[in-house]
Amino acid sequence: MTIKKGYAELHSILLANPNKKVKDVLELLMPIMESQQRDKAHYTDEHGLWVFCYYHKQYELTSQVEYGRKVNTVTGLNSMCKVGTNQWTKQQRDYKKAKSDLLDQVNAGTLQVSDLEAEIKKLEEAKDSIKPLIESHHEEALLDVRQQEEVEA
Ligand SMILES: [Zn+2]
Repeated sequence: MTIKKGYAELHSILLANPNKKVKDVLELLMPIMESQQRDKAHYTDEHGLWVFCYYHKQYELTSQVEYGRKVNTVTGLNSMCKVGTNQWTKQQRDYKKAKSDLLDQVNAGTLQVSDLEAEIKKLEEAKDSIKPLIESHHEEALLDVRQQEEVEA
């Protein structure tokens, strides 16, 4: 039996977990399936052009969510919506500032070096968190078949 290239990892996880519930196996498979999904950076359907927002990690309909223009890209648009771009920039900036504040505290002796790692981890979680985009199309985007096809297959 030959396993298709794209399914090899999925196949080996299923083989290694024959007695697990689908729900538990699904948790193992999600990272693989999500990364495949992210390879599709955009697509067009009858609603228009959808871009996979690098910040919000979801498909956004570009007629409903504002995207900045960017030259030399396939879509002519940025890889993050405007709200996402602002939020991403803010989180990066806040992270840098808070991290340098922590180092100042260590230098000043108000923070133990042994606590530094845990504090930085908290900052990283905040930096990598996603503030959801509240838009009318959000539910629609989640219900889109392309969001589900890997799960249902
Ligand atoms: Zn977005």
